[in-house]
Amino acid sequence: MEYCDFTDEWGPEKIIQTYDPKTDMKGILVIDNTALGPGKGGIRFTPDVDVKEVFRLARAMTWKCALTELPFGGAKSGIIANSKKITKGQKKAIVEAFSKSLKPVCPSQYVAAPDMYTAEEEMKWFAEANGSMKACTGKPKELGGIPHELGSTGFGVYHSTLVAIEHLGFDVKNMKIAIEGFGNVGWFVFKFLSEKGAKIVAVSDSKGCLYNKDGIDFNKVAKVKKKTRTVIKYKPGKVLKNEKIFELPVDVLIPAAIPDVITKKNVNEVKAKIIVEGANIPIPHDVEKVLHKKGVLVVPDFVANAGGVISSYVEYTGGTPEKMFKLVEEKIRKNTKLVLEKSKKEKLNPRDAAMKIAQERVKKAMK
Ligand code: NAD
Repeated sequence: MEYCDFTDEWGPEKIIQTYDPKTDMKGILVIDNTALGPGKGGIRFTPDVDVKEVFRLARAMTWKCALTELPFGGAKSGIIANSKKITKGQKKAIVEAFSKSLKPVCPSQYVAAPDMYTAEEEMKWFAEANGSMKACTGKPKELGGIPHELGSTGFGVYHSTLVAIEHLGFDVKNMKIAIEGFGNVGWFVFKFLSEKGAKIVAVSDSKGCLYNKDGIDFNKVAKVKKKTRTVIKYKPGKVLKNEKIFELPVDVLIPAAIPDVITKKNVNEVKAKIIVEGANIPIPHDVEKVLHKKGVLVVPDFVANAGGVISSYVEYTGGTPEKMFKLVEEKIRKNTKLVLEKSKKEKLNPRDAAMKIAQERVKKAMK
């Protein structure tokens, strides 16, 4: 077998593949860099996950944890299986086998979390099979978990947005905002921003985009979404195709759903002055550079959406939801400010400024 072709000055430190003949569990763990602490990263449970994908996600965690100033390094894991084609009992046995196979490095060098097709219940199985509650975060409340439904990531994206608005000298109360996605992230960003007095003029979900230039009421749209499973049934408002949300005359745009939504094709249609990336990679990096040249302020994903990993840290250290909200606010505000100020001072695009800060922190810890 060929040696992996993606090593560099940062890692990965360990690539572990595990197999359990009894359950046919095929697992992968990549611990990218532990200079700042045990590698943190979720368990992806998909039929086509591979070492390269796990490595890329692990590397992204290295930078996210460093930028957020958490005592965690970067890691990620994967289980090659199709959730839809196995029974719950089989899934449990696979997760438990994976957990047992990782005991030599977990939780000492790896702390797991939920990712695609793993959630609270899988974390319960994983932690119990390991024997330590520190083996993973995202556990159910009765095992010391901090519920996802509290909206830590959306709360962080909200604070990042406030900092970006302040950075340009605007007042949130005068801002017209569009939010793509009304799931865990979009829902809470909408809630907190409208409570702060911003006018949310557009929101979308997989069914389409709802636009009302006079503003959309959060409580009303939340009820409509719960009842009809879509925001487009809200009245009054215009229903548009969901990709139209990126072209609306707004001040702030918050992509909080799917990847690659602003691309070379529609970048010239963007009217917003600020984009805060709630979703992961909603804009390819070269397109972010185009926006930067056009004078649009883009707060990168790993700066704005780190609320979830901060919440994990609070859970890992036995903290409460109150502590989580306090720490998310503190850290997201501080790091968004730091990145935007460095970007302005050194004339860098915000992602490059953020990467520089994260790399400096890891490098210092590696000495
Ligand atoms: P979710 O599954 O709760 O919600 C996704 C939302 O996107 C839903 O409202 C869905 O209808 C909508 N959607 C799907 N396709 C769409 C389309 N074409 N146009 C508009 N809306 C569409 O997911 P989430 O947890 O809110 O995550 C959203 C994004 O944020 C993802 O990129 C995720 O990786 C990222 N993220 C989430 C967290 C977290 O803690 N939830 C943390 C970091 C990053």
